[in-house]
Amino acid sequence: METCTKVTKDWLNTMEYREKNFAREKLVINPAKACQPLGALLCSLGIEGCLPFVHGSQGCAAYFRSTLARHFREPVAAVSDSMTEDSAVFGGQNNFHEGLKNAYTVYKPQLIAVFTSCMAEVIGDDIKAYLGNAKKQGSIPNDFPVALANTPSFKGSHIMGYDSMLKGLIDCLGEPREEDKLNDRLYVVPGFDTYPSNLREYKRYLKIMGAPFTLIPDHSEVLDSPNLGTYELFPGGTPIQEMKESLNAKSYLCLQSYSTPATGKYLEGKGVPVETIPMPIGVGGTDRFIEAIAKFTGQDVPEEITRERGRAVDAMTDAHQYIHGKRFALFGDPDILIGVVSFLLEMGGEPVHIVCTNSTPAFKKAMEKLLASSPYGQGATLYPGKDLWHLRSLLVTEPVDMLIGDGHGKYAARDADIPLIRIGLPIYDRVNLHRYPIIGYNGVINLITMIVNTFLEEKDRNSTDTYFELMR
Ligand code: SF4
Repeated sequence: METCTKVTKDWLNTMEYREKNFAREKLVINPAKACQPLGALLCSLGIEGCLPFVHGSQGCAAYFRSTLARHFREPVAAVSDSMTEDSAVFGGQNNFHEGLKNAYTVYKPQLIAVFTSCMAEVIGDDIKAYLGNAKKQGSIPNDFPVALANTPSFKGSHIMGYDSMLKGLIDCLGEPREEDKLNDRLYVVPGFDTYPSNLREYKRYLKIMGAPFTLIPDHSEVLDSPNLGTYELFPGGTPIQEMKESLNAKSYLCLQSYSTPATGKYLEGKGVPVETIPMPIGVGGTDRFIEAIAKFTGQDVPEEITRERGRAVDAMTDAHQYIHGKRFALFGDPDILIGVVSFLLEMGGEPVHIVCTNSTPAFKKAMEKLLASSPYGQGATLYPGKDLWHLRSLLVTEPVDMLIGDGHGKYAARDADIPLIRIGLPIYDRVNLHRYPIIGYNGVINLITMIVNTFLEEKDRNSTDTYFELMR
């Protein structure tokens, strides 16, 4: 029996199995993505006084909440109208009305953000009509704001859900754009970002550079709130007043290309100027971010930031020999992949396998262009739409030195006997990583620290006495 298991196990590591694995069409095994409503929940948590509301099954809501609660190690407030079998037959309107009434009465939010789970979408519930009826019936006051997003999970992923919810929130709260009501602020959209520390870094840069701004949405105080001895249901977020002024922004700066395209298009349709740049990971990416702010303010980049950049470049110089020529596999969301691959190329690292389950044609094109731009990107292959079982086959048949991706990658990394650097969502099995920014110049230093020290740790643990050195 044992021999038989070993034979099968060994066969799973062969090229023959890899070919069979890549020939599969109808089955997905462990995709590197979550479903749409999870993204909508993350988005709505970033608005002041906003209560996320799942129109759908209780179990779905539990999944979104537990994923975020475990990743951030924070309570995640969200309610559900708990649709069950009878709602699947007769429609979920009664659940919707009662749920809204209870949520409004019990939790006293300033705003409710409604998004849907699969069940509501499969039966075709019309949440816009339900909301109109709920107001007519007096379940909630007529003027109480409720943002809506359809988030069917049989297509797209969490980043699409994030996008739909953000569009819904601006559509619900934003007052019409009028020339005499324009404000002087830059509205900065972080996109689907699970690092409260990243959001804090964005705000720090904007403050140092003297740019009047609104971060929209902003979950940094909600998902990394201080423990002061009392629980706050609504500890922060983008102020409602600034949401109301969102369509009268001077301009928008979107910091992810693939998690907010619908919002960007919506804003442009309302006459709002929008600029989208890649997530500012790595020195080049951060430079573009800083340049975009400088263009907005019309001011020079302050000395403080120039010195900070210099420290990041110094850290790169100190450590480049540990990354140069190393082979990497990566998986995750398109924006993080573009950012981390850019960073690796800057350091002379060689991406080999890049798996992106929620890839798009635009992302594929951008990634291929990025890889073609560097001598270190020549050996890389992008695997759009593939999952973590495909990734496992790649790792065991074409070995690399390190895997970069979220915590789900630990199984494939163990099978391939390589270290995993945890970046993305979820990370349940390590603490505090969401408190270390991966964007900006400090993010460059943090990435170097994580990657290089892991390589050095491996080297020490695997060294014989002869090569066990104090200096590395
Ligand atoms: S995929 Fe659909 S059924 Fe599954 S958790 Fe997401 S919304 Fe619920």
